[in-house]
Amino acid sequence: MSWTDLARNGRILVVDDAMENIQILHHALREEHEVLFALDGEQALQIAHEQQPDLILLDAVMPGMDGYAVVASLRASPRLQDIPVIFVTALSQPEDETRALESGAVDFISKPFNVAVVRARVRSQLTIKRQADAMRELSKTDGLTGLANRRNFNDTIDAEWRRCARAGLPLSLIMIDIDHFKLYNDHYGHQAGDACLQLVSAAMRRCATRPQDLLARYGGEEFILLLPQEGADGAEVVAKRMLDEVAALALPHAASPTAPVVTLSMGLASILPPTDGIDVETLIRTADANLYRAKQTGRNRYCISLDD
Ligand code: GH3
Ligand code: MG
Ligand code: MG
Repeated sequence: MSWTDLARNGRILVVDDAMENIQILHHALREEHEVLFALDGEQALQIAHEQQPDLILLDAVMPGMDGYAVVASLRASPRLQDIPVIFVTALSQPEDETRALESGAVDFISKPFNVAVVRARVRSQLTIKRQADAMRELSKTDGLTGLANRRNFNDTIDAEWRRCARAGLPLSLIMIDIDHFKLYNDHYGHQAGDACLQLVSAAMRRCATRPQDLLARYGGEEFILLLPQEGADGAEVVAKRMLDEVAALALPHAASPTAPVVTLSMGLASILPPTDGIDVETLIRTADANLYRAKQTGRNRYCISLDD
């Protein structure tokens, strides 16, 4: 994306209790952006939740919930806290500006405003927002495979664990390890090894496609799949699918004692639902122990529990 693209085509929420201000800002921004509007603070928060704007232009003084209260609510919400806010207000004292910036706004525009200046400030805040979004995304992603990285997995499992516990729903994990991958590297070279990791990752990703499913690269050639709201039976279906999907890739592995192609070993663990007695680490350890058993008993398979 070029510098100009980053600054345009944003979704901007304009919040003001005076319709004429909304109209002026709409007119100023509509050629470059999608413009949404709200006439009070409550409505602004509701629209922000539903539409996830890139940027909010916010009037400080409004009847009922004022701009400062809106910013405080945004900052307290995990889903909304990263949306930048520019105060647009008739208040013009340095202390007003200071208060706006200290409350968590990124910029401050005094009324009456110059339309060209508003446009320019919106462009620059939008650019910063998008760069920040891209950085956040990168910090959660594994560079080679494009999968979630381990940190992303750790954050997500904690949140899903609590969610499933509250809702009384099961949660499953699958630990996955490529068989004889050291031999693959030795035989075909490290670059071919990297390409293999990419293909296997893409194939595994096709096997669990619900929005809440998370496949992460856990280590070098080790992966972990989080299946919230899924019990042991569902996890087993997904594990079978992964064996089939990777077999269907038919990636030659001439050095493998297990099969002439690249294969996986997996360990499953499920809990119904997450309870006080058991923690995330215990479930991961169980999946890992089952993976170890899959390796011990011949590879190219999955194991479920210690007595299956
Ligand atoms: P097992 O069937 O018991 O899992 O044997 P293995 O050889 O797969 O397991 P081991 O843990 O001994 O070796 C893992 C290999 O994975 C060694 C390491 O060089 C390779 N590896 C780890 N990360 C990467 C990577 O990013 N790219 C490539 N090409 N290889 C990697
Ligand atoms: Mg391995
Ligand atoms: Mg390994």
